[in-house]
Amino acid sequence: MELHPTIDGFRKAIQRERDAGRTAGFVPTMGALHDGHISLIAKSVESCDVTALSIFVNPLQFGPTEDLSKYPRPFEADAAKAEAAGVTHLFAPSVDEMYPVGQLQTNVHVSGVTEMLEGALRPGHFDGVSTVVAKLFGIAGPCRAFFGEKDWQQLEVVRRMTIDLSLPVEVVGCPIVREPDGLAMSSRNVYLSDSERESALALSRALEQGVSIVAGGEKDSATVCSAMLEAMSDVDTQYAAHVGPGMTSKDIVEPGDRLLVAAKVGPARLIDNVGVQ
Ligand code: AMP
Repeated sequence: MELHPTIDGFRKAIQRERDAGRTAGFVPTMGALHDGHISLIAKSVESCDVTALSIFVNPLQFGPTEDLSKYPRPFEADAAKAEAAGVTHLFAPSVDEMYPVGQLQTNVHVSGVTEMLEGALRPGHFDGVSTVVAKLFGIAGPCRAFFGEKDWQQLEVVRRMTIDLSLPVEVVGCPIVREPDGLAMSSRNVYLSDSERESALALSRALEQGVSIVAGGEKDSATVCSAMLEAMSDVDTQYAAHVGPGMTSKDIVEPGDRLLVAAKVGPARLIDNVGVQ
């Protein structure tokens, strides 16, 4: 595995791979790798000749009261996991390398799909995400990029930005990886105490409840969302929502739609979602 701390080194390395006729997979992350990240790497390894992983805790996507300074950064362990999973190129730039002139004068703003849920609760968050992903795509060049459905709205934002800006990247969404008891894997789960870890199951249970009442014939969006909210009454719920494709709001729940939840559990803010069959 080659380690690239610089933009120039990483860009040239991936270009060399393409010049040699090899296809490039790309998995952007903030590190603290868990089996969810590893599943994205596995998808890339399976379908591309080389796999690049980026580890960059992007300050632009954290709000002033969020966990930027506390975010886990176990770099040595991450590099070992990446190599074991088949990553051939690890891009791990510093903040100065990515944002050398301090305040950026360019900001990528996706409208529409960013306006509700995470976008409404975390002002500026998706601008930070779309700006860094546009930059990472610009650095990596033509590739297939793997993103988790865990961050469903983020996936919609990245898809939309890639289409709107005609970026030469194929965005591939990958299923959510869960702990055996249903909790969606997240780098932020390390913030949870044993009892908070137990309370955090409210999110996946609420989604199961939503899916089960839809399977039982309920189609009314408000009724499904109320049932999910009720299943989360023991945690500090931020939303229990239903959206259609492209984050559209709908009164009727149909196959292909998504149920999404967010809650604060102790020091962690957790999100989860599920598709409606
Ligand atoms: P992060 O490091 O949290 O920014 O996540 C990097 C990528 O991993 C994003 O595309 C996430 O959606 C994805 N990811 C995070 N957790 C999971 C999970 N439990 N299952 C699948 N993908 C995940």
